[in-house]
Amino acid sequence: MPRPDVIVKPQPWLWQPRFRPIRFLEIHATRGPTTPDKQFGATVNWMQSAGNGNPLQGWGSSCSYVLDRDGTLGIVLADDEMPKYSAGYGGAGSEWSIDEYGISYEWCQSPAQEEFTTAQYERGAVEFATKCRLYGIEPRILDEEVRTQKGPVNFSGFVRHDRCGNGYRLGKSDPGPKFRDADFVALVKERMNPAQPPVEEETMSSQEYKELRAAVDALQKKAAANVEFVQFEGFPQVYRVSGHTLEHAKDLASFDAQSDFAEVRVLKKGSADYATFARFNASFASLPREVGGL
Ligand SMILES: [Zn+2]
Repeated sequence: MPRPDVIVKPQPWLWQPRFRPIRFLEIHATRGPTTPDKQFGATVNWMQSAGNGNPLQGWGSSCSYVLDRDGTLGIVLADDEMPKYSAGYGGAGSEWSIDEYGISYEWCQSPAQEEFTTAQYERGAVEFATKCRLYGIEPRILDEEVRTQKGPVNFSGFVRHDRCGNGYRLGKSDPGPKFRDADFVALVKERMNPAQPPVEEETMSSQEYKELRAAVDALQKKAAANVEFVQFEGFPQVYRVSGHTLEHAKDLASFDAQSDFAEVRVLKKGSADYATFARFNASFASLPREVGGL
């Protein structure tokens, strides 16, 4: 069972406002130096870490989404925010970087390169199908088209990091041989097919995501300094049906919702995984007190 999606707050130098149309969905594998079950937490922490590059150094590692092995999604960037260092330029003469046109997904996999899970393919397919419909992206794996990264980008599709000019130049091996291209594309097409039972779409708009991130910011400012990030159980859904406006979400601390939502999980700084989440059952109104009482 996937856990609730996680709102990630990336370091500011890892992204910039998008200036080109979205044409690609990038497929990467995390391969952090830890076990499969720790890939998600490690990657999420890395996106938020001050040690992940810096503005002077001019690079870091970034992505738009992290897809855990149980299908949980970490939302790092809004779609109109471009990951700066996910898949860059190709070889000599390359005219554009993949990221300029790409939304980048890091699929959790350890360096042992175990199989990707059914939950990952399922959730990945729902996410990719949603973006394909939203941005008119063709559900297919690109290869030849993105080898040189030159010329007009009058095509669209999925870019494997190991099969684009940038990946070839850098010798990238993700997502690697375990990623089942044909099965995944078939699954995405299935999820795009309106004849299928409707998929419950949980994708937030860019604006909603930014409002939510601002809300997390506000909450964290009010919370103890040892809070690294905050996770809202079912937040997007509750958020929508609660009938409150976006303005309310900007300041959760003063959110006086009559809602009986919610469960809030807080990951304490320095903790390695989700087992250390403190869990609260709290209404929005009581949230600051509860979190502040950590
Ligand atoms: Zn990659």
